[in-house]
Amino acid sequence: MKCRICTEKAVIETRRHNTAFCKECFLTHVERQVQKTIESEKMLSKEDRVLVAVSGGKDSLTLWEVLHRLGYQTTGFHIVLGIGDYSPAAREKVEAYAEKQGFPLIVTDLNEEYDFTVPELALNTPRVPCSACGLSKRYLMNRTALGGGFSVLATGHNLDDVASTLFGNLFHWHTEQLARMEPSRQATHPKLVKTCKPLIRLTERETLAYTLLRGIDYHEEECPNAEGATSLLYKDLLNQLEHASPGVKQSFYFGFLKKGRSAFAADVNGADLRECEVCGQATTTEVCAFCRMMDQAHRTASRRNS
Ligand code: SF4
Ligand SMILES: [Zn+2]
Ligand SMILES: [Zn+2]
Repeated sequence: MKCRICTEKAVIETRRHNTAFCKECFLTHVERQVQKTIESEKMLSKEDRVLVAVSGGKDSLTLWEVLHRLGYQTTGFHIVLGIGDYSPAAREKVEAYAEKQGFPLIVTDLNEEYDFTVPELALNTPRVPCSACGLSKRYLMNRTALGGGFSVLATGHNLDDVASTLFGNLFHWHTEQLARMEPSRQATHPKLVKTCKPLIRLTERETLAYTLLRGIDYHEEECPNAEGATSLLYKDLLNQLEHASPGVKQSFYFGFLKKGRSAFAADVNGADLRECEVCGQATTTEVCAFCRMMDQAHRTASRRNS
């Protein structure tokens, strides 16, 4: 099989584009896809200071690498979640990558700052680990971006991630979440930072190929809490559909953005945002969900220990 661009030996075939690429043409293709997404969705400008959320996995390190290569001003942000052996290994990969590339990196340890790891939050509140983790990540990413004077927060969600989220939201008719599925979200309050997902035109297979071809040493291990997650089942189902009909995943997600999302606009809860009485972050309630979770965890833990 030959590269459709330069006729060198192909290393990857992308059936949904009905094409194949050699190493160099594939790397260029990936970077152009990201640039195209950034421009069409008005995600970033070269003046932006971009905080890149990096877990250490293939997607987030691909994102950081590509944004840097495209000339954006980036700083990595890693959160130490305190999940068994998974978290120290993830941190090691992120720090090694940042050091090798000479990229600036901010690391926040949830346990050091708030006295609780993700498993401890799950133990001391009614939240399951992924819920406590997701809330902590969203909170810390926004807080760090605001505090550090970053204008945009970029995350490494790929096409498989956003298509499976769409699948789940449609199954359960989560209409407000459907309305909020935009690839780039403007800040709607002075205490919120703009967010964007520049990898949504790339599949998981493509970000994996990019990391391997660039020789990026990423954290391969899945978080133990991901096992059995419904999002993995949705991804599997979408991959089966994609296998039978190449391109269906892309048309499902981008078709929804173009033709479906606006139908749910009226379902957005327009509750006024205000500042949390404890931490000052944006919230619709007196005290934000993160501060309430931490307060509950402290109270439960002290009851347990007394
Ligand atoms: S799978 Fe792990 S890293 Fe992902 S949200 Fe759940 S606890 Fe957090
Ligand atoms: Zn080529
Ligand atoms: Zn708060």
